[in-house]
Amino acid sequence: MTTLKIAIQKSGRLSEKSIQLLKECGIKIANSDRKLKAAAANFPVEILFLRDDDIPQYVEQGVADIGILGENEVWEKDKKVAVIQHLGFAQCKLSLAIPKDEQYEGLHYFVNKKIATSYPKILQRFFKEKNIAVTVEEIGGSVEIATGIGLADAIFDIVSTGSTLLMNGLKEVEVIFKSEAVLIANQNLMADKQVILDQLLFRIQSVKQAAEHKYILLNAPNDAIQKITAVLPGMKSPTILPLVEEGWSSLHSVIKEDQFWEIIGQIKQLGAQGILVVPIEKMIL
Ligand code: ATP
Ligand code: MG
Repeated sequence: MTTLKIAIQKSGRLSEKSIQLLKECGIKIANSDRKLKAAAANFPVEILFLRDDDIPQYVEQGVADIGILGENEVWEKDKKVAVIQHLGFAQCKLSLAIPKDEQYEGLHYFVNKKIATSYPKILQRFFKEKNIAVTVEEIGGSVEIATGIGLADAIFDIVSTGSTLLMNGLKEVEVIFKSEAVLIANQNLMADKQVILDQLLFRIQSVKQAAEHKYILLNAPNDAIQKITAVLPGMKSPTILPLVEEGWSSLHSVIKEDQFWEIIGQIKQLGAQGILVVPIEKMIL
């Protein structure tokens, strides 16, 4: 029987979320002690646990059919793979940072400067496009200490909150690239594997949709219903059910997570009471 081989990070920032996503897609990983491989009990996939750096190469070669990793690694490794789905977790940015007391007035600051990074390809591409000559010093990790020890004038690294930069006397001056976890696939998948991938993508999209929406229930006087439904779009339109109490109804709808607070504020003003907001587990449009 055909199985789709999925490469995920063995241990690190992406591992847990990758496993959780597969779980939410109904894929139970039988052997979870994270050796090299695990079969799924109830879906034709096999999980390969790898270093994230190696995933693009393995997917390009077809050792794995698809993989989950940070976009930053996909860009850096520059392999022939297809990015087929953004996954909405592991958001981070790749930024240029310089010692905090330095004056900064724009990219020309970096002319002939030495920049330490674990992402030499992305960095070189960036400055080449800008026609700025820099020296790129590739190092494997702890990039943030490079200026302090005199290895480089600046750094180019992953920044999430900026606290690591601050601790090392640096300031972020340019965000070059924003990244999140993505699903990549081999460019020449066989038809039978493509069928499994399409099923998996359908599930991933349902999980993602669900995470981006909330189910909302509320009570409202009948004369406010029209105005309230105008701000509560719903999947088609809201459901309205009469309450036992005369003149009142219960409204059910689906709202987007990012519009949530705004909508709640509006419908409260319009007379909504007893508002309940419930997470959605799966959502199929
Ligand atoms: P491996 O041993 O597999 O090579 P790693 O040390 O290269 O692991 P991690 O630190 O686990 O990688 O990070 C994996 C990915 O998570 C990064 O490539 C990036 O996409 C994302 N990431 C890294 N740091 C952060 C952060 N601070 N906030 C959010 N996402 C991050
Ligand atoms: Mg890595």
